[in-house]
Amino acid sequence: MDNSKSKIIFNEAQKYMPGGVNSPVRAFKSVGLTPPIIDRADGAYIYDIDGNKYIDYVQSWGPMILGHNNKKIQDTVIEKAKKGLSYGACTEDELKLAKLLCDNIDGLDMIRMVNSGTEAVMSAIRLARAYTGRSRIIKFQGCYHGHSDSMLVDAGSGMMTYGIASSLGVNKDVAKDTLVARFNDIDSVKNLYKIYKDEIAAVILEPVPCNMGVVEPSIKFLEEVRKLTRENKSLLIFDEVISGFRLSFGGASEYFKIIPDLFIYGKIIGAGMPVGAYGGRREIMDLVSPVGGVYQAGTLSGNPLAMAAGYTLCKYLLDNRTTLYRELENNATILYEGLSDTLGKKGYKISKVASMMSIFFIKENVKNYDDVIRVDKELYRRFFAFLLENGVYMAPSPFEGIFLSMAHSSEDLSKTINLIGEFIRQEKC
Ligand code: PLP
Repeated sequence: MDNSKSKIIFNEAQKYMPGGVNSPVRAFKSVGLTPPIIDRADGAYIYDIDGNKYIDYVQSWGPMILGHNNKKIQDTVIEKAKKGLSYGACTEDELKLAKLLCDNIDGLDMIRMVNSGTEAVMSAIRLARAYTGRSRIIKFQGCYHGHSDSMLVDAGSGMMTYGIASSLGVNKDVAKDTLVARFNDIDSVKNLYKIYKDEIAAVILEPVPCNMGVVEPSIKFLEEVRKLTRENKSLLIFDEVISGFRLSFGGASEYFKIIPDLFIYGKIIGAGMPVGAYGGRREIMDLVSPVGGVYQAGTLSGNPLAMAAGYTLCKYLLDNRTTLYRELENNATILYEGLSDTLGKKGYKISKVASMMSIFFIKENVKNYDDVIRVDKELYRRFFAFLLENGVYMAPSPFEGIFLSMAHSSEDLSKTINLIGEFIRQEKC
């Protein structure tokens, strides 16, 4: 596969941007390759500037649940753009999206739009501290909640890829208020409550972790976390940046029938435009400025293009929820069975929760970070390189999920499964 143009651009990009990228995992450092420079995307595919076509299982890390370049969303954005890109003032589309979400998600009375998942988490944590008058937060090893200072402790995804426990530049005084528990291990949460009983403002988690690969949660564990937070008057924050509108319309909360105090959204609610959001019970959200004293603002928050794109996508998902999520899960099952027939037969673990799934190059069961961290990274590197060379674009890290879209066809899935079979035969693993 010729990638000469990509190499030239990426070499030059490294002179002007740290690592040549604007987000670390994109640099392909952990898989030791030059990233293709993307020119365009359509449906299930992305195309690089050398003219190579890939079946894309990253889908912009999640927002493109209908596939790239969806006509309805594209038309909405083009029409909105003709009216100006941003006003820094109120629009009807903000209300339309907020109303659609609040009217259809239990426990979501009010919502505030921001520009990224990071910003939403950072703001929700400030809000939880204000509401409870407490300072400490419990998070889980391997769960990623964006890169605000207090969340950069034992975070998954990019930090796991690069083997970093916590980021340089995060003050010890900030990090000390972040307590870290083990996912799927309720005793680790109870122990923290024993030590810090009345100091814990909130427990935050990805209800289905995706940033250490997709780890299946025990429902009992999620229910117990809900119970513990209630008993101890802490808030429960579900970070549904990935699971929201993917596991079901109402995300993991609807799927597992557990209502948190605060929800975090991102990715799908912007349909590919930069959007994040936090929301929850009215009495908590009433603390947010200008009604309450928790200050949080944004020049481009509620951007008209992003709101219109997000509304078009969310309305479509809602109107088609009964068939759409079943179809998405059927596709995931086809891929899951294919992977089980190839990698699974060799003892490797494939995890799947509804349409969220990932491959772990490890032969033991995976319940949390301690298991996941032992995956065979070198084997993943070879797997990734083989697929890329043959036109399949997976996440360039063993600690990410496979993002399926409604645009992936049965031929795309078959091609992927066949290639994985070929990889196994070639590797003799
Ligand atoms: N929370 C979760 C669960 C995420 O997966 C991500 C990003 O992947 C974030 C928060 C941060 O979102 P953003 O990258 O939009 O800042």
